[in-house]
Amino acid sequence: MRYISTRTREIIDSSQDAILKGLASDGGLFLPESLPFIKFSEDEIENLNYKYVAKKIISSIFDDFTKEEIDYAVDTAYDSFSDEILPIIKLDNNYVLELFHGKTLAFKDFALSILPILMSLSIKKKNLKEKVVILTATSGDTGSAALKGFENVDGTEVIVFYPTDGISEIQRRQMTCLDYDNTHAVGIRGNFDDAQSSLKKIFLDSEFKDELLEKNIRISSANSINIGRLVPQISYYFYAYYELLRRGEISESEDLNISVPTGNFGNILAGYMAKKMGLPIDILVCASNKNNVLTDFFNTYEYDANREFFKTNSPSMDILISSNLERLLYLVSNSGENVKDLMEKLNKDKFYKLDNNMIENLKDFKGYSYNEEETLLGIKEVYEKYSYLMDTHTSIAYRGAIELNSKNKTLVLSTASPFKFPKSVLEAVNLKVNDNEFENLRNLSEKTNTKLPSILKDLENKKISEKKVIDKDEIKESIIEILGE
Ligand SMILES: *Cc1c(COP(=O)(O)O)cnc(C)c1O
Repeated sequence: MRYISTRTREIIDSSQDAILKGLASDGGLFLPESLPFIKFSEDEIENLNYKYVAKKIISSIFDDFTKEEIDYAVDTAYDSFSDEILPIIKLDNNYVLELFHGKTLAFKDFALSILPILMSLSIKKKNLKEKVVILTATSGDTGSAALKGFENVDGTEVIVFYPTDGISEIQRRQMTCLDYDNTHAVGIRGNFDDAQSSLKKIFLDSEFKDELLEKNIRISSANSINIGRLVPQISYYFYAYYELLRRGEISESEDLNISVPTGNFGNILAGYMAKKMGLPIDILVCASNKNNVLTDFFNTYEYDANREFFKTNSPSMDILISSNLERLLYLVSNSGENVKDLMEKLNKDKFYKLDNNMIENLKDFKGYSYNEEETLLGIKEVYEKYSYLMDTHTSIAYRGAIELNSKNKTLVLSTASPFKFPKSVLEAVNLKVNDNEFENLRNLSEKTNTKLPSILKDLENKKISEKKVIDKDEIKESIIEILGE
């Protein structure tokens, strides 16, 4: 399979190169040149399990890895999850897909537990002598998942940049209690967009990259701009659909909607790619918080990032520049020229408007957004009605499913454990909020009769490693300093 940049100036021959590179040199994002059509047989459905699905999907797109390599990568990655890798909970006509049973309790673990293995295999296959340094911007969850995923992985080092304000205490501890020398976390006085745009500049700074290469260092990304993040995520859409079919919850003549709490547009894009690969998905709900730039986009087909940035109680979605939308624009227009043009406008004016010919193909998407109060109300209503506890991000997707009010069933993607955001969840269900975050966790668990993940109990006893905090324009210096150590 060949990989093509969304700005079409760069085409490369293998997924391994695309994964190692992260961002294309024309500034675009890599996509497979075509997507395979995939349908499961009756036999496959009867014996469905997640690892099988992941192997089938990932190997159909990353076809330059051997079967043994994909088997090894998938088995190792998903052995780090709890026994039930991804439960599906029925709430009347909606189904909640719990994607938070990996090591850091957010859906990012699905990609970031396997990406380091694929990278490490690519390094070995290509006999690279350089160390691969993974630079990552995070709004909270990517950081901890990348640090966990890459810890102690041969030939790699990872540096995460997180906003010092606006993440939960649990997220902060997950990123600053580090056990291995090849992992680093740096706080920035700025938000996710600042970190992401600085890193994109660094990935395109050929002078800096050459300097690093002389020191035997190659840089790559663990953000969802890396195609190695996106492809593994397609698997859980296939699994969820066929699992509902297997259970008899849906029939073969029914389409399924999906509702996805969206920030950088990676998760929902994987859903769209699943649809393009033949999965019967009807409507894709793009659910946002008060940072509702995508909601407006799907209603007006204008992208306008000239607006106030809000810190909300769903911090992993506090984003105004959603990188992966660029991939959607390519998929619906098939024109790198067009995408390049729009991205230049976005860079210059923080604004662009789509032509009519692109709009037709976007009709499958619906954009909805909810403020903080509505987010908490969603948690409360579901808890009271079903005794089911969800986190703030999931609440936003659930509300999206309700607002869609479709005759089809809707799959709600649950992207984080409620215990990652205990203060907001306690507040939502009218329980007392403490200063001590671990007290909050125990309270939430006891009072709602919901099991506390054991990973969080361990976190309380870990030592916080020395924390660096920098200004948002000091990212490059900080990288040089860390790599010089
Ligand atoms: C990252 C994240 C999101 C947003 O996902 P994107 O792929 O960036 O759109 C939503 N919820 C949680 C909990 C996250 O960590």
